[in-house]
Amino acid sequence: MASCPECRSRLVYDRETKTYVCEGCGGTYTQQDLLMEREKALAKKFDEDRKRRARSEYLEWWLSSKETR
Ligand SMILES: [Zn+2]
Repeated sequence: MASCPECRSRLVYDRETKTYVCEGCGGTYTQQDLLMEREKALAKKFDEDRKRRARSEYLEWWLSSKETR
């Protein structure tokens, strides 16, 4: 279910250290780290969507302003 924020490999939970260890790059993450990475990724996606929307709105405005001219 969890995947490494760096390389997208599978993460294995280590009960002793209470961290997630990446099978790919060997990085270790706490649950907190993963939550923060997830929020960052979501925020980035949201930002990209917003930019894309802003661009298409601009394009629509540009096209409609062309039509009326
Ligand atoms: Zn990794």
